[in-house]
Amino acid sequence: MSMNVVTLLYLVASVCFIQALKGLSHPTTSIRGNIFGMVGMTIAVLTTAAMIVQLAGSARGLGWVLLGLVVGGGYGAWRAKTVEMTQMPELVAFFHSMIGLAAVFIAIAAVIEPWAFGITPPPVAAAVGINTPVGAYVVDGVLRHGIPTGNRLELFLGAAIGAITFSGSVIAFGKLSGKYKFRLFQGAPVQFKGQHMLNLVLGLLTIGLGLVYMATESWTAFFLMLALAFVMGVLIIIPIGGADMPVVVSMLNSYSGWAAAGIGFSLNNAMLIVAGSLVGSSGAILSYIMCKAMNRSFFNVILGGFGGEAATGGGGAQEQRPVKSGSADDAAFVLGNAETVVIVPGYGLAVARAQHAVKELAQKLTDKGVTVKYAIHPVAGRMPGHMNVLLAEAEVPYDQVFEMEDINGEFGQADVAIILGANDVVNPAAHTKGSPIYGMPILEAYKAKTVIVNKRSMAAGYAGLDNELFYMDKTMMVFGDAKKVVEDMGKAIE
Ligand code: NDP
Repeated sequence: MSMNVVTLLYLVASVCFIQALKGLSHPTTSIRGNIFGMVGMTIAVLTTAAMIVQLAGSARGLGWVLLGLVVGGGYGAWRAKTVEMTQMPELVAFFHSMIGLAAVFIAIAAVIEPWAFGITPPPVAAAVGINTPVGAYVVDGVLRHGIPTGNRLELFLGAAIGAITFSGSVIAFGKLSGKYKFRLFQGAPVQFKGQHMLNLVLGLLTIGLGLVYMATESWTAFFLMLALAFVMGVLIIIPIGGADMPVVVSMLNSYSGWAAAGIGFSLNNAMLIVAGSLVGSSGAILSYIMCKAMNRSFFNVILGGFGGEAATGGGGAQEQRPVKSGSADDAAFVLGNAETVVIVPGYGLAVARAQHAVKELAQKLTDKGVTVKYAIHPVAGRMPGHMNVLLAEAEVPYDQVFEMEDINGEFGQADVAIILGANDVVNPAAHTKGSPIYGMPILEAYKAKTVIVNKRSMAAGYAGLDNELFYMDKTMMVFGDAKKVVEDMGKAIE
């Protein structure tokens, strides 16, 4: 296979990836997008495999590739099949960490044996008294060629971004799963005095050591730089907590893409550069969209500016205050007598797997002449688009599903807002100065004439904050697992 054919096939795969991203931008085209992604990846993998066979002159090197494909692909397929939807962010963080680690390993290998990557000619025994070519040196009678400066820059950047992505993703994994005892891995922000200054100093030191490596090709500088980058990954992520984690997930997604692009430069592989850049730039755009949706400055989030000391990340016990509570039958009565109902799904709905029950409830209400709409907050659940995916799984008609900016104006006219397993995304504390989530746009469910809230207890949501909405006069709490409660409401409406 000539290099021209390889380039052409890589180009076709790149176009497929672009089409995949385009398709994934809307639920109606997402299946097509996924198909494009799979076709693109198949072309890329087969082309690379064929290229390896050709370059090695035999199928010998392919054994390692196949081993990697079987182990990595097998594990990935098994996890994708078995993972709970609510554990997706942790899985994504895990995958990001693996990409970061791969970038680090490849950069280390290329620094130690650049000839294996085609970066330099292989070392040869040096004849006594030879004229050392420019950029080459003789060590212990062996003539070695120095890594060109451009490649040193790629290796430095690839390794540093990979290391930050790896350690940052490991911390994010712990924070998202929220089940570790070790404080660094918990959802709450870890902040201390002088943190920003420390990050700045470490950042400058990392760059400085990278420059030393570029100037001298010193392994010591390279490995010290790598160690600092690992520490920086931890320090960047630990101060972020509560409602800011979605931005972290998409930011690490972007980093992992840039790390992959870095590997692409080291391996001289155009496909990896293109695919890595696509992931890197789409992740960066997603981070920007998330920040905009949350009314946050990207730099504030990255610098650990907020997250709030009140945040517990796991939902601690709240002070005891009286609330109005009712049964599923009471709620069904209110719903059945409404003209307009807005359903607000949240993380708890995903935990309870109540999406099908909700769709049935909505259908029964629609049959009775009630207008039903769903309100989606951009960070509801635990991953971007979580609620859209959930509702799509239950085949909720897209024309009933509204994004926050489109539905917020309608809460004032709605007879009932029914909140199912959501908390932070409807918390009016976002309007209160000094609150850790101050400024975050919320679904304005509190404006509806009646509010029904279903959750299991008075525990806090992900940001660890009490929610004033639950104590309002017009609010009725219906305690219990979302699936059971929604099914009971459906039966009562019948
Ligand atoms: P929250 O985490 O704020 O609240 C979910 C609520 O669901 C909890 O208060 C819990 O209360 C309730 N709940 C849990 N299980 C059940 C169940 N089986 N039945 C009924 N209720 C249940 O969720 P939101 O969706 O409102 O907000 C998402 C939060 O997650 C935001 O803070 C966001 O920043 C963060 N986040 C989002 C990510 C994303 O990309 N979307 C990624 C990472 C974090 P109780 O225990 O009393 O039942």
